[in-house]
Order: sequence, then structure tokens, then C-alpha cells
Amino acid sequence: MDKDELKKKLTNEEYHVTQEKGTEIPFQNKYWDSKEEGGYTCKVCGAMLFASDKKLDTSTGPSGLQGWPAFDEAIPGSIKFQDDNSMGMHRTEVVCANCGAHLGHLFDDAHAPSGKHFCVNSCSLDFEKKA
Ligand SMILES: [Zn+2]
Repeated sequence: MDKDELKKKLTNEEYHVTQEKGTEIPFQNKYWDSKEEGGYTCKVCGAMLFASDKKLDTSTGPSGLQGWPAFDEAIPGSIKFQDDNSMGMHRTEVVCANCGAHLGHLFDDAHAPSGKHFCVNSCSLDFEKKA
């Protein structure tokens, strides 16, 4: 999909986050405290990325990571990692393996069962309720 098509398909915020590696505002996004059962898909291409049973509670936990949807594990093969040295720090960027959309970042988190914390923007995601 080219840039113009994506701009039509996505809202300004969705475009900014998924294509320009933006970050939405914590606690004021769609899925951060959602507890519904189902799967989270890529906003851009629809690929299944995360299962709700791997979702972390981000009303508590490491400060700075609170208020965004977060997951302990991704669906195997659904995401790719890239080095991100922006903002004067080294982080691991998480992108959709299928279309390359920016999703968020991967952090170490001692509170998470796997020790890893996928911090994801709600506007990079869609939700499919469990049937
Ligand atoms: Zn995608």
C-alpha cells in the first residue's frame, strides 16, 4: 500500500504512529486497560499479533510503561525487532513482520512472566473479540 492510500485508510494519529514511529498518550488510548478476550491485529494489514491472554496489566508495574496496552509475548513470527537509537537511548523497536508498521517497543520487565514487556500503541492495533 502506498503512502496516499495509507493516509486515506488511517487517521492522522494512526498514520503518525504506524508510519512515523509516533507514540500515543498513555491512559488516553483505546486498549490500555481492556480485558476482553480475543486477539489484537495490525491496524494497517490485519495480521494477528497478540493474544489477550498475554496482555499485561499496565495500571501498575514499571513507571514509564504504564497506560499503554502491553503484552508478555507476541504470536510467534508475527513481529520483528529493530534497533532504535532515537531520543538519546537504545531501545528495541517492535514492528509488524508482515507490513513493517511501527507497533511500540520491547522492554525488560521483572513483573512480566517472561521478563519481557511489549509496550504497544493502541492505535497500531485492532481488536477481534473471541467468537
Ligand atoms: Zn501489519
